[in-house]
Amino acid sequence: MAEQLSIDILRAQMAQAVAARNATPEVQAPEAPAEEPAKVWATENQQRLIHTMIFERFPAAQAKHMYASLDWTKIRHREFKAIMNELKALPKLPRNLRDKAVVSPEVSLPGDFPHGTYTVQYADDSYKVIRIALQPLDEDFMPGVALIGYQNGPNNKKDFRNFANVRPDGSISFWRRWTQPDLEKALVAVLGAEDGIYTTPEGDRVEVTKSDYCAKCGDVLTAPSTKNPYRDMGYGPECGKKVGLKK
Ligand SMILES: [Zn+2]
Repeated sequence: MAEQLSIDILRAQMAQAVAARNATPEVQAPEAPAEEPAKVWATENQQRLIHTMIFERFPAAQAKHMYASLDWTKIRHREFKAIMNELKALPKLPRNLRDKAVVSPEVSLPGDFPHGTYTVQYADDSYKVIRIALQPLDEDFMPGVALIGYQNGPNNKKDFRNFANVRPDGSISFWRRWTQPDLEKALVAVLGAEDGIYTTPEGDRVEVTKSDYCAKCGDVLTAPSTKNPYRDMGYGPECGKKVGLKK
C-alpha cells in the first residue's frame, strides 16, 4: 500500500511537472526535506540512472526538486521499475532545451574502459579519429561522464563532436542526432580491436592506433602513418621535418 502510494505520488508529481514544463518556467519552492534516511535498496548506479533520466526529461530546477523528493528508503525493486517505466514513457527534452546546470554525481567507468584518442584506419586509407574522454567535473554538461566523440575538423585537440556517452553500467548511449553508422562502426572497431587490429564481420581489416604525442612538441598525433610520414617515429609532420628525419 505504501509502495503504491509512493508511485501514485510520483505519478502525480510527474503529471504536475509535465504540465508546469509546458505552461511556465516558474518553479515552486522546494518542500522541506524528508526525515533521516533509513535503509536504501537501490544501488548508487540505480540512483544515478534515475537522476539522469529525470534530468533528461525536465528542466534542471524541476528535475532537482523531483529527484530530491524521491524517498529512496521506500523504493525497492518494484517501485524502482515503476519509476523507470514512468520516466521512460515521458519524452526526453530536446538537447538544446535541456538546462545546462545538470549536476550529476561522478560516474566511474569500468576500470578497463579504453579512454583515449584512437585513429581508426580502413583498408581504403580513409580514417576516423574517435575520442573517449571524461568530462571534467566542473563542466555544466554531463560532468564526470565519459563522452565519445569524433574529430570533425582539422584541429585534433579542439575539433571534436561528441555523439555518445558511456552509461554508469559501462554500456553506450548513442545520441541519435549526432550518430552516424560510420561512427558506430569506428567505435565498434576501437572497442573490439586486439593488438590494434579489428576484423569486421565482412572480414575487412581495420587498424586501430591509440594516439601518442609528438616527441618534440608534445602535440597529439592522430593522423595515420599514410598521412604523416613521421608518425611511426613519434613525430608530427612539422616536427619530423624540423628534426631532420627522412620520410
Ligand atoms: Zn610536434
